[in-house]
Amino acid sequence: GDKRLEELNVADTTCGYCAVGCRFDLYSDGEEILAARPTAEEDAPVNGISTCVKGKFGYDFVNSDDRLTSPLVRDESGEFRTATWDEALERVAEGLSRIKDEHGGESLSVIASSKATNEDNYLMGKFARQVLGTNSIDNCNRLCHSSTVAGLARTYGYGAASVNMDDIESTDCYLITGSNTTEAHPVIGTRIKQNVRDGADLLVFDPREVQIAEYATQYSRVNPGYDAVWINGITRYIVENDLYDESFVEERTTGFEAVSEAVREFTPERVREVTGVPPEEIASAAETIAAADTCVFGWTLGLTEHSHGTENVMAMANLAAVTGNLGKPGAGVSPFRGQNNVQGGGGDMGPLPDSFPGYQDIADDEVRAKFEDAWDCDISPEYGYYTTQMFLEADEGNLRGMYIIGENSALSEPGVNHAEEVLENLEFLAVQDLFVTETAKYADVVLPACSFVEKTGTFTNTDRTVQKVNRVMEPKGDSRPDWRILQDLAGRMGRDWDYDSTAEIMEEVNSLTPLYGGVTHDRVENEGGLQWPCWDENHPGTERLYEDEFNTDDGKAHLQAVGYSEPAETPDEEYPFTLTTGRVLYQYHTGTMTHREEGIMEYTPSDFVEVNPATAEAYGIESGDAVTVESRRGEITVPAQVTDRVGPETLFAPIHFAESAVNRLTDETRLDPSAATPEFKVSAVRIAPADDG
Ligand code: SF4
Repeated sequence: GDKRLEELNVADTTCGYCAVGCRFDLYSDGEEILAARPTAEEDAPVNGISTCVKGKFGYDFVNSDDRLTSPLVRDESGEFRTATWDEALERVAEGLSRIKDEHGGESLSVIASSKATNEDNYLMGKFARQVLGTNSIDNCNRLCHSSTVAGLARTYGYGAASVNMDDIESTDCYLITGSNTTEAHPVIGTRIKQNVRDGADLLVFDPREVQIAEYATQYSRVNPGYDAVWINGITRYIVENDLYDESFVEERTTGFEAVSEAVREFTPERVREVTGVPPEEIASAAETIAAADTCVFGWTLGLTEHSHGTENVMAMANLAAVTGNLGKPGAGVSPFRGQNNVQGGGGDMGPLPDSFPGYQDIADDEVRAKFEDAWDCDISPEYGYYTTQMFLEADEGNLRGMYIIGENSALSEPGVNHAEEVLENLEFLAVQDLFVTETAKYADVVLPACSFVEKTGTFTNTDRTVQKVNRVMEPKGDSRPDWRILQDLAGRMGRDWDYDSTAEIMEEVNSLTPLYGGVTHDRVENEGGLQWPCWDENHPGTERLYEDEFNTDDGKAHLQAVGYSEPAETPDEEYPFTLTTGRVLYQYHTGTMTHREEGIMEYTPSDFVEVNPATAEAYGIESGDAVTVESRRGEITVPAQVTDRVGPETLFAPIHFAESAVNRLTDETRLDPSAATPEFKVSAVRIAPADDG
């Protein structure tokens, strides 16, 4: 508009889209967000003055016509009608209490939200355990990076990136895999491109020639599903040619012998046969990593969304350790986290079935006693269900009610035909969101939450920096911040919470969570962000993990031997192609936010499937033709894009649209044994031109 900026409300805040964690000033006239401008550079440790298209323009969703502005309940005919907060909260309290009284708290579960603040998520965990009496609380982390968390925690001690943004910006070499970095993490992608222009090496291994591959000094195409094989192939080359960092291995690791032994079978011929990567590319990647003073190992879901994702991550962790690339400037592991607050809200705050905030194990008696005491309740030492398990257990009658906050499970779960059935059959379902999502359509009650521009609290980004989120607009209509809704519900279910602010909630987090011991709102605000671990009020935070020791009992990295495994489903005569799924720049996850942006919808108005020209020719498919893609779980019809970004045996489809719901094709039963992450990246499918008419 033509309103002058100085007449508007302004707040410096942290982006609510991706986990890069850009900071900027948002301007609002109280009705709309009118502009996003860079903050003072020193207040934006991550992005300085850059942002991407989502952070800059992605605000139409706040005022979109279908934004939920009052609670909804089902009337006698089964239709939604608007309701007062009183009525809606009472129905939720009744619905959850009835199941709890009749079947025990364990028959209830909560899905928490990585989009919400740390403070919101801390209370979701407390609500599940204290008010409902269940450990079955989890979040979308399960569907993406929980194998990263499991794999890194087992080798190094912390399930998080070891590096900071300066390391990412200044390293001599990158090995990036399964990450469409420039599209999914735009501001980090820009930094990497700049550094490569200045001479850094960039090795990209990916089944798809993603955009970042255009900037690579080496791109290697891999068959999806066998990442540990080529990673072990590189490690083998490095070990056998004595290119590893001997003193680092000796002083700072255990398990090197076992790893050297385990990688022996991954000979160049074997690697080529399984992954399609020729021996000279394994050799040159190994030589480049070994010759570089520093290397950053970056990945996202291409490495993790497998039935053996944890093994893939451990193979990568081994490679970083044997080359000594940890705990020094410019070196380390960098799993790029997806959603804005998946590190903090999805992990650190403990909305998890097996841990309290700060990854404190619920099976540990001392830890549990601390929380039982602080929260004044009994807590079972038995782990609850992971998200993926919740949907399977509901079939068995072991789960009867769910409270889903800011998660669109009806699109994001694997095998959504199954997920829809489960949601339909629940005895009680409450959904809390900004919109009537595909999931909310199954709810008994829908509670209107607010977005990050209407909220105060903190987010934790992909390099463990906790940053402040500040409200620039009042909540739309009758919507409320998640923590307030939870506090009201707790009150109706017999627990008297009386937090006046999110700062107070964070004080409680500080007192119970050593990792966040000194992370107060005041400090986060005054110091422009704080990286955990931050043990107490005088601790400066930790820019880089593992400088002196690993977070293990003996302070060393515990290398883990990783052998050969295959995807749980491989192509065969009936389903001859491997389908892999992913994301595109202008969209975000299931599109709850981005589909409401007109500008964004012009670029990518629908999902599609990428088909190699050879495959297209064999099947008589041209770009734009409607094609049917079918797996053992279901089928979808989408337009084809003929491109050599994918190889002839692979198909790629993005996950952003309900109409095509690619997750009808994925499988809800094939999960990583340690992390319960589904195998989104590999499904055996067939393709055919769609029937005319
Ligand atoms: Fe927001 Fe991520 Fe874009 Fe930064 S890179 S503006 S955090 S979406």
